[in-house]
Amino acid sequence: KESSKQDEMPDWSEYRGVMIFIEQRAGEAKNVSWQLLGEGRKLADKLEVELIALVIGQSVDRLATDAIAYGADRVYLADAPELNEYRTRPYSRVALHVIREVKPEIVLFGATATGRDLAGAIATHLPTGLTADCTILDVEPHPSRLLLASRPAFSEKMLATILCKRYRPQMATARAGVFEAAPYDSARKGEVQKVSSLLSEEEIETRVLQFIEATDRFHLEEAEIIVAGGRGLGGPEPFKLLQELADALGGVVGASRAAVDAGWIGHAHQVGQTGYTVRPKLYIAIGISGAVQHLVGMQNSDCIIAINHDQDAPIFKVANYAIVGDLFQIVPALTQAVRAQ
Ligand code: FAD
Repeated sequence: KESSKQDEMPDWSEYRGVMIFIEQRAGEAKNVSWQLLGEGRKLADKLEVELIALVIGQSVDRLATDAIAYGADRVYLADAPELNEYRTRPYSRVALHVIREVKPEIVLFGATATGRDLAGAIATHLPTGLTADCTILDVEPHPSRLLLASRPAFSEKMLATILCKRYRPQMATARAGVFEAAPYDSARKGEVQKVSSLLSEEEIETRVLQFIEATDRFHLEEAEIIVAGGRGLGGPEPFKLLQELADALGGVVGASRAAVDAGWIGHAHQVGQTGYTVRPKLYIAIGISGAVQHLVGMQNSDCIIAINHDQDAPIFKVANYAIVGDLFQIVPALTQAVRAQ
């Protein structure tokens, strides 16, 4: 009897729609926002509801247009000077207000520093939970309309699907690079609704005095070209060769977990199940065998070039171009060829 009572679903019929938070800095949206709109479109179509975008910032009306072109039906736009830099309180106040008014059944954020902070701040004010760092999203359509939010668990050894059965909205953060943005369609039509910022500058306790970009910080998930190295490099020194090739191509250096665990390069460079999921235009895998835990992090790259002296290395199964040979000969020759262009 008790279990049947627990399984009874409350009536959530006034909650409809899938909402995506569009994260931006200085007017530039993070790729994960467009990727989430792409995935959100599929969820919204399955549930037969609107896809809603939430844009917060200053001078960000262009992003509202972009959100429609990437699949949103409706955009809530809060554009004010006090929303220029991300600050938890003013952003969460706006987001909470919109969520309470609009009542979306699902709200999604990128699992970035900002997305995690904002989603957490919002969840503490709503009678709901938050599933963090999802890599698979799906919905069970009528009648439950449940978000099936899956994420790696138990040291990434299994995939857990987490359900928010008794509360709305269902909220989740999702990893960058996992989902695909829909093609940009400037002919798409949608509605933009303006929202006020709710707090004046005087009412906000925190000030951003200066934004200092860390010089050693790079955004692997946002990179268009990644030159990644693995155990085949044999030590930290050869990563200089990869850096030279990356510099010549205008890309960044990535790594397999074997190289990171060996201490040859920092964890911020790790691609794969326990590292970053990336989706660059070009991924060059050098001295990387292609273990499944590495492949899940990079196999959606547009073009993959693999360099390995073992012609049977599994990485070649996902590669568009295979170069079989010694990396110590091939990488400097490639760099030279790129520089010569
Ligand atoms: P290896 O498998 O040792 O491959 C080295 C390759 O270099 C070989 O194919 C070899 O032929 C080639 N090579 C050697 N010398 C040369 C040369 N001179 N020229 C050309 N080729 C050469 N791995 C990740 O990468 N990312 C993750 O996020 C990740 N998460 C994991 C999570 C879990 C729970 C577990 C259990 C494992 C995880 N792993 C992850 C580890 C993964 O299983 C592999 O051990 C790892 O990816 C292997 O790294 P590698 O390809 O660099 O090394």
